[in-house]
Amino acid sequence: MVIIVQNGDKVLRKISKEVPISTITKPKIQKILSDMSAALDSQLDGVAIAAPQIGVSLRIFVVSGRIFDEDFIRGRGPTEGDLYAKNREPNMVFINPVLKKISKDKKLMMEGCLSVRPLYGKVRRATRATVEAYNKYGIKFTKNGSGLLAHIFQHETDHLEGILFIDKAKELQEVFTE
Ligand code: ZN
Repeated sequence: MVIIVQNGDKVLRKISKEVPISTITKPKIQKILSDMSAALDSQLDGVAIAAPQIGVSLRIFVVSGRIFDEDFIRGRGPTEGDLYAKNREPNMVFINPVLKKISKDKKLMMEGCLSVRPLYGKVRRATRATVEAYNKYGIKFTKNGSGLLAHIFQHETDHLEGILFIDKAKELQEVFTE
């Protein structure tokens, strides 16, 4: 089982290092990618995870395929079944991600973090964002996000700079789920 590092651990405050492109397809990085996906999939409410959250100070984040699931978007939330559903969208890997464009338009949205349990709070972020990154095959791609995905892009790139959402959040509150 992969442990998700909690707030207070120094690795969450370090600036993560770039992944040398030629090493992306090597076993060491591929293992980190599968560990990140396993850690993310183990959390029913997880939407994304950054490498420092499993104790690895490298510029990588993974977005759960769940957020592309209609029911999840409609707010029904994930169920146990979703975790094992064969037709679930695959998790999306972003290596050496760079935020290329963010909208001037901003919105407050509720956020939490797998490393800052059990706090939730509202963070003001751009409603649209574009990320340039490498995928798990070492191929460069660009992805546009709006709404939840745009917020995720900004939350995750913050992780790679050692920034946590609680540094920016308003109205922090504890939320316990079973
Ligand atoms: Zn987080």
